[in-house]
Amino acid sequence: MKKRMCLACGEPVVGRSDKRYCDDGCRNAYNNQKNSIPNSFVRKINDVLKRNRRVLSEVLGKEKMQKVSRDKLLSRGLDFEFFTGQFMTARGQIYFFVYEYAYLPLDEERILVVRQKIAEERYK
Ligand SMILES: [Zn+2]
Repeated sequence: MKKRMCLACGEPVVGRSDKRYCDDGCRNAYNNQKNSIPNSFVRKINDVLKRNRRVLSEVLGKEKMQKVSRDKLLSRGLDFEFFTGQFMTARGQIYFFVYEYAYLPLDEERILVVRQKIAEERYK
């Protein structure tokens, strides 16, 4: 059976088969957002950023830095067009921040993923 996801928060919905939200709170939240184009635009971008953050956090695991392939990040859903900031090192390398994580394209194929603190300490 296909799991139904709450239209507002994306969590699995339990209960009647026509139920589309967890509860009234989620239904109201969804309707409010739906009626507001700027909000839904902001929400979509926030969702991409949150997904990017989750992907970086997952590939990094407990490591402080990790080299991974671009394909691996892409296959996990990282969208390289969305980040929260950039940082150029003295050597001209550009780190792309996603909240407390950052990634640095090393070449066509490999990408260095770090926690932001590492990048700042190593390259300030
Ligand atoms: Zn919900």
